[in-house]
Amino acid sequence: MNKRRPLVPLDFIPADLRQPDVATATENALLRSDVAAAVEGMFAAAADDGVALTLVSGYRSFAVQESTYASWVAQYGDAAGADTVSARPGYSEHQTGLAFDIGQADGACTLVLCFRDTPAARWTATHAADYGFVLRYPLGYHEITGFSAESWHFRYVGKDVSLAMRAAGTRTLEEHFGLPAAPSY
Ligand SMILES: [Zn+2]
Repeated sequence: MNKRRPLVPLDFIPADLRQPDVATATENALLRSDVAAAVEGMFAAAADDGVALTLVSGYRSFAVQESTYASWVAQYGDAAGADTVSARPGYSEHQTGLAFDIGQADGACTLVLCFRDTPAARWTATHAADYGFVLRYPLGYHEITGFSAESWHFRYVGKDVSLAMRAAGTRTLEEHFGLPAAPSY
């Protein structure tokens, strides 16, 4: 999904949400069950490599996304600014239960630009595809994805897709599936 491909219906709720058994920065980090299992595998592998990840954000309902987006509009003063960093309700990958944000266990650079230079970001950029995840909003692809770079936001796509994209050097789902770019709504 992206700014041209909303959820249908807009207030869609996934059926099989559960809390993964990993360190979380919030009490509300639900993911779909198969995604939660993949997250558990990735976090354990990172820990084995000495990288302590935390789950910062998982599923967000339509109603929660309404307030999240509204707070960004208030911060920027208009929708144009908010639209570069936050999805409108019904258009957020977080509402699918397939997407999540990671952080460092020490909280460094949570959800801000400098996260990209942390061990957590470097490790996941290299290994996430092995667990079926893609970094959904890579640096320099905002004209395709519609969003500024987010080195913390991952989307579950399954290993068939994630490994094929890594092998081909494809950075966005739009390009992988031959879909139009979605810079705006
Ligand atoms: Zn996110």
